Amino acid sequence: MDREMSCIDCRAYRCKENRKDALPEFCPMGREGADAIYDRALELTNSAEHNEFYVKSSEIEKDFYGSMPRVRETIELIKRMGYSKVGLAFCSGLVNEARIFSELCREHGINIIGVMCKSGGKDKTETGLGENKKLKPGQFEAMCNPVGQALMLNEMGTEFNVVMGLCVGHDSLFYKFSEALCTTVLAKDRVTGHNPVVALYQKDGYFKNKLK
Ligand code: SF4
Repeated sequence: MDREMSCIDCRAYRCKENRKDALPEFCPMGREGADAIYDRALELTNSAEHNEFYVKSSEIEKDFYGSMPRVRETIELIKRMGYSKVGLAFCSGLVNEARIFSELCREHGINIIGVMCKSGGKDKTETGLGENKKLKPGQFEAMCNPVGQALMLNEMGTEFNVVMGLCVGHDSLFYKFSEALCTTVLAKDRVTGHNPVVALYQKDGYFKNKLK
């Protein structure tokens, strides 16, 4: 396997000081055309469509830094953006958490509507998935339907979508098909109580054998 060096391997962090001298040879800022890419990125960030969202997100970073949990930051972003309808794409295994989050949103005056992953009620085999790949083969098992969740929330006219616990990969499809910007409030991890970083902290410890 080729090992391509990148920011992952950097210890210089010249970008954090806006220094162009002594860049690591693999630094993206040293690539041909890099200036044009970063200029274009700034142009897009500052565009009428995206600037308010970016600035408000960054203000929350400052205002809530280290004091408010992600759930509260998410609510704050929704409030500061003034969205009148927010979607919640949630996993059927996290119904309770979805209800708690929605209740909290409503306490903050947010209009939130959820679409659960199983909506559409189609059997997993309709996607070409083998019967033996169902959790319980031999019986109807509703497929997770992230594309359906996105299309339905698009149809309902949500201005912003919150993702709660969609499976790895299913979340990718949701992000692709959602017309509204999305944020993830909870990344599902059935083994760590939805705290994926535990596996990283325990890479050389209790999770050693699970990560091989
Ligand atoms: S952008 Fe360049 S300086 Fe910054 S982390 Fe990546 S390699 Fe290092």
